Formats: sequence, structure tokens, C-alpha cells
Amino acid sequence: MIETTSYHESALALHKRVCVVDAHCDTISLVLDDGHMFAHGSHEGHIDVPRLREAGMGIQVLACWNEPQWSGHAAFARCMEKIGTFYQEQRKADLRLVTRKADLDVLDLGFILSLEDAAPCMGNTRHIDALYAAGVRMIGLTWNGRNEIADGLKVGDKPGGLTDVGRICVGHMQALGIVVDLSHIAEVGFWDVVAESTKPLACSHSNAKAVHDHIRNLTDAQIKAIAASGGVIGVTYVPSFLSTERPGIAEVIRHIEHIVEVGGIDVVGLGSDFDGIQTTPVGLEDCSRLPALTAALMERGWKEAELTKLLGANWVRVFKANWTC
Ligand SMILES: [Zn+2]
Repeated sequence: MIETTSYHESALALHKRVCVVDAHCDTISLVLDDGHMFAHGSHEGHIDVPRLREAGMGIQVLACWNEPQWSGHAAFARCMEKIGTFYQEQRKADLRLVTRKADLDVLDLGFILSLEDAAPCMGNTRHIDALYAAGVRMIGLTWNGRNEIADGLKVGDKPGGLTDVGRICVGHMQALGIVVDLSHIAEVGFWDVVAESTKPLACSHSNAKAVHDHIRNLTDAQIKAIAASGGVIGVTYVPSFLSTERPGIAEVIRHIEHIVEVGGIDVVGLGSDFDGIQTTPVGLEDCSRLPALTAALMERGWKEAELTKLLGANWVRVFKANWTC
């Protein structure tokens, strides 16, 4: 077992002295829909504040996922309910909301709000301003379906790319200082955004298609494009994106190392999808287990400088490059 090696202690020590970032989880939905105990902890789900602290996490991105039945004003209202859910948890335990570049330099647990599916934006820049004012700093343009901005990757045989309104919205997000997240977007839209974008791009939770051929994974060309933008890809623990059999830490590492091989060390990060998945890789059963992944990489000879980038420095760089203050 990895925990019995000295690497586990070294991993935990490293987590405490660098900023560890997880760019995607669905914990807010669990809090809202199931009463998941987030601020004070729970034995259920994958993420809560005590377990994040135990793992030495620096920043947890909390996604407000738009369930596919909501569109238009209902999607905006549902998103506000999810953002309000975070603020109610924040009051319970004085949680740190990270919205400014200077907040990224503080070595203490903090949270970034993101959207998974821009349906709540309704293709309207005023909604984007309102979401920014509410604290949102990253927006996934689509989930699997269609919205005003673009098509997700499960829209029929020939999904569309960025719409005219979508182009305006992407420009507005980047001008305000919101990271544009391309996980879930159909490939045609991915390339439209790459052509339009003026800032480093992100895929908050996506893996490598060359390692495991899954519709949600990125081709090598897409990995190179994110790298060329100065962006980052959060390797995710969704079992079906990792392998055909139930994966373990070794499969997560295969995706990490392939992305590094294709795009370089500056493009790789983490985006667990904890609390959005029913099963997890063996060895990464919840957020408190992250040191096991770091320890396994140390055992494979990863240097501290490389681990620091993977664990969070690449995400911090992309947030800083996009955020305007
Ligand atoms: Zn997702």
C-alpha cells in the first residue's frame, strides 16, 4: 500500500506548502438537493471542508451545474439558488471565497465558484455581469446539450459551434475576467473558441482520448491547443473517462503523463468531478485520499517542481492570467 511508504508523509507535507487546486466538483448540488453537510463535515459524498483540510487542499472549485431540464430564466434562477447555497455554507464556517488574484496567493483553504453549462447566462451579457458580481470566476460553456452559446458534445450527429451570441458572450467573459472552460463542448465549438479566444483556456475536467477513447476526452490536437493558449486541463477521476475496467491511481497517472507528454508540464492540473460521480477510482475514494496520488507520482520520480505545477500552480497561473483584478 502506498500509504505505508514514506512518500505519503512527503506528499501531505508538499500539499501543505503549495497551493493544491481541484478545478471541478458537484458538491453544491449535493448540499442543495440532499442536505449534504459541507461546512461541518459528513461521512457521505466525496468532499466536505474537514476532509479538504485533511488533504491539504488549497482551492476547491465548486461548480453550479445546470440540470438539463432548466433553460432560460429557470436556469438563471436555479443557478442563483446554487450560488446562494454556497453563501449559506460560507456563513456556517467562515469559508474563504476566492475572487481576486491576491486571494490566490493565500495558503489557506478557499473556494472558487464556477458554472457547468452557461445556460444561466441566457446568451445575455447582463446575466454574465450579474454572475460575475455574485462571485463566478469560471464558466463551462456547455454541458452535454445545447444552449444559447454553443452545443455540447451529445447534441446529435452534427453539433454546432459557437453561435453569434456565443462569440459575444465568450468575449464578454474574457473581458470581465472569467475563465472559459471547454469541458463538455462539442469539438466544432472547441475550435471556434480557440480561434476567438484572447486568454488562456481551460478544460476543468477532461482526460486524454489517446489513452482511453471516450467522447468526453480530448484529442492530442485539443491538448496541444489548450497548451498553446497557455491554458490548463484538469485530469478527472470519472471512471468511464479513465478506462473500461474500474480504474485505480495508475490509470489516473496514465492520463496525467500522456497530457504532459503531448502538451508539456504547464498544461496539466486536476479536476476531480467528486460528488458528480457514483464510483471513484480505487485509492481515490474521496478528497482526503489525494496524497495517495501525489505519493504515487513521487514514487515514479516526479520532481517537486513538476508536482507543484500539476497540483495547483498551473491552475493558479491560468486564473491570474484571466482575472482582471
Ligand atoms: Zn461534467
